[in-house]
Amino acid sequence: MDYQGLLYEVMDEALRGGHAHGRVADYIPALAEADPAQFGMAIATVDGEVYGAGDWEQPFSIQSVSKLFSLTLTMAEGGEGLWRRVGREPSGNPYNSLVQLESEHGIPRNPFINAGAIVVTDRLLELTGDAGGAVRDFLRVESRNAALEVDETVAASEALHGNRNAALAHFIASYGNLHNPVDAVLRHYYAHCALAASCGDLARAGLFLARHGIRVDGSRLLTRSEAKRVNAVLLTCGTYDAAGQFAFRVGLPGKSGVGGGILAVLPGRGSVCVWSPPLDATGNSVLGVAALDALTTATGWSIF
Ligand code: GLU
Repeated sequence: MDYQGLLYEVMDEALRGGHAHGRVADYIPALAEADPAQFGMAIATVDGEVYGAGDWEQPFSIQSVSKLFSLTLTMAEGGEGLWRRVGREPSGNPYNSLVQLESEHGIPRNPFINAGAIVVTDRLLELTGDAGGAVRDFLRVESRNAALEVDETVAASEALHGNRNAALAHFIASYGNLHNPVDAVLRHYYAHCALAASCGDLARAGLFLARHGIRVDGSRLLTRSEAKRVNAVLLTCGTYDAAGQFAFRVGLPGKSGVGGGILAVLPGRGSVCVWSPPLDATGNSVLGVAALDALTTATGWSIF
């Protein structure tokens, strides 16, 4: 398959659809500075080949894409116990919603809404002593990019404007579902959200899911069954309140972030990352979804 030509083709097709209606996230002020015209895409195959086009080597704020990695590391280190503290159903609510938490007694619906990711970060902090560092180090190894780093400006901006996440964390803590101090959990949560990585880095780092749980060095991180479960939760909950639409259009497990990145996986074949900052009303990259839609339509790459 001519992956390089394919990337040019699907990015062109996405651009022809236009992205005038997208908006760069600005509720974290440091994110508002992203150039809306940047657009990159990379494919990594299980055979070890990497292809990229556009701004695919440019680091961006990975934001909620990091939640895929924090969940994975928590499952790898801590097993099934996590599922007593967080559910695995789509929320049907915005990613930062407080309302469900009260009726569901502080057990967040899934690990990818902010409330669930905060509980996952708390568990990873218990397991490793450094949740932010664990996600960063994992990404460095899997992407083969030792320079991958937290963007401290973004992390500070998130903390300064983090009233909503602080409210979620305190509310969860009031039900006894946080085991570390709220401030520490939020610091680690912002640290992994504020990691800066490129499409190439993330496509490489997502390959362990395409390899059914096997890391870049050949060691096993997740059992085959755990890898299947992460992919399942990505499919049903990975793209905010638009996971149904994403499955309909793209047909791959994937995780998006408000920095405009989306990482998607085709088990057994490879992973693909796309980045364009303008977001639709549900928080997903407009061009990113369009390019993945074009890619899976052109290739038949889909789990269905
Ligand atoms: N750090 C962001 C927040 O907590 C992540 C949001 C996202 O990418 O969904 O609001």
